[in-house]
Amino acid sequence: MNVKVRLHQNIAILGSTGSIGTQTLEVIASYPDRFTAAYLTVNNNIPLLLRQVERFRPKGVVVLDPAAAETVRSRCGPEVEVLTGPEGLSDVVRRTEVDTVVSALVGFAGLRPTVDAITAGKRIALANKETLVVAGSVMMPLAERHNVRLLPVDSEHSAIFQCLTGEPAGSVTRIILTASGGPFRSLSANELRTVTVEQALKHPNWSMGSKITIDSATLMNKGLEVIEAHWLFGMPAERIDVVVHPQSIIHSMVEFADGSVKAQLGVPDMTIPIQYALTYPDRFPTPTRRVDFPSLREMTFFSPDTERFPCLRLAYDALRAGGTMPAVLNAANEVAVARFLAGAVPFTQIPVLIETAMDRHVLRENPTLEDIVEADGWTRDILSTF
Ligand code: NDP
Ligand code: MG
Repeated sequence: MNVKVRLHQNIAILGSTGSIGTQTLEVIASYPDRFTAAYLTVNNNIPLLLRQVERFRPKGVVVLDPAAAETVRSRCGPEVEVLTGPEGLSDVVRRTEVDTVVSALVGFAGLRPTVDAITAGKRIALANKETLVVAGSVMMPLAERHNVRLLPVDSEHSAIFQCLTGEPAGSVTRIILTASGGPFRSLSANELRTVTVEQALKHPNWSMGSKITIDSATLMNKGLEVIEAHWLFGMPAERIDVVVHPQSIIHSMVEFADGSVKAQLGVPDMTIPIQYALTYPDRFPTPTRRVDFPSLREMTFFSPDTERFPCLRLAYDALRAGGTMPAVLNAANEVAVARFLAGAVPFTQIPVLIETAMDRHVLRENPTLEDIVEADGWTRDILSTF
């Protein structure tokens, strides 16, 4: 599959005000001769968007909320096009001047514009893992049909991608995803019942958006990444393992037929995998800290505990079940995490809600995109009564 390498890339960032979006803009700012932020999109963080517009002077922006868009229009003047709603997202990712789309919305909302960007043949830097979780069976053939390579931004998948470079197809025996274990790695099942939102939002190694931070605390993030790895690298569930590695220095590993294991290491800093997705197959210098092995002293590894963290088991179950089940897993997780963040349910209720939805779902094999959208809606409906 071809990856178009252009000397200069015009980039549309879906979710420019998020954790990945703002770090993507840092990368763009450090190579202004190679990258231009052509379009920025946000949900409703207008103050930050206005600062980004002032600094990066994009051709256009998309603001999800039409009322908020009016403020942007009046502040930015005619030289910045202001679009609104999901239609605005679908519109900008197709623009002919856009070379690369950084897919960094959070959750199911990222699916449609990513489909549109692939259909338009754009280079995709994929951070929104939910897209592949819910619709991998549709997205991978779609990307192949449009000769589009999905370049992973997620640090684990970037690590695997880097380990696979130059290796013969069919030589991989196992993918080993590393997990930090999150802030509650050492808590007992009983202690997990009373953890607060504030505690769950304190990730030990990474600073990320609130949804993925909660996913990291439940280990659902790793479960979603298992499904993401399945689609990106064509590996069955039984050949994708998870190992807890609290230092987050090894970002993931690949085991080959001869017993060799390759690992990709680096300090936990998302600008590295973001930049690699933008520069691939090149590597450009970054100012990031380097791994200092003597001061690191130790790297430790543990098996994940799916009794205390059932979300990881549920994700494997959904992957093995296939069809629309991963879409149900994802939607139920989005609902459950939003409820936990709103203080409406305890932390330990998150897997209970997900399992409830999965138990009730009659899955559809070989789903179309419409079936997936329907399964997502079905899940949100059914959980509204719990
Ligand atoms: P954030 O919550 O920090 O940012 C989300 C972005 O999407 C914001 O710009 C937000 O706008 C916008 N947005 C949210 N909801 C909608 C919507 N319904 N429609 C349009 N725009 C919306 O998320 P992250 O950057 O942490 O994560 C983004 C994706 O990348 C997720 O899928 C996550 O799993 C994945 N990822 C993130 C990593 C990280 O380090 N953060 C690492 C690996 C993967 P606004 O600011 O206006 O609300
Ligand atoms: Mg990750």
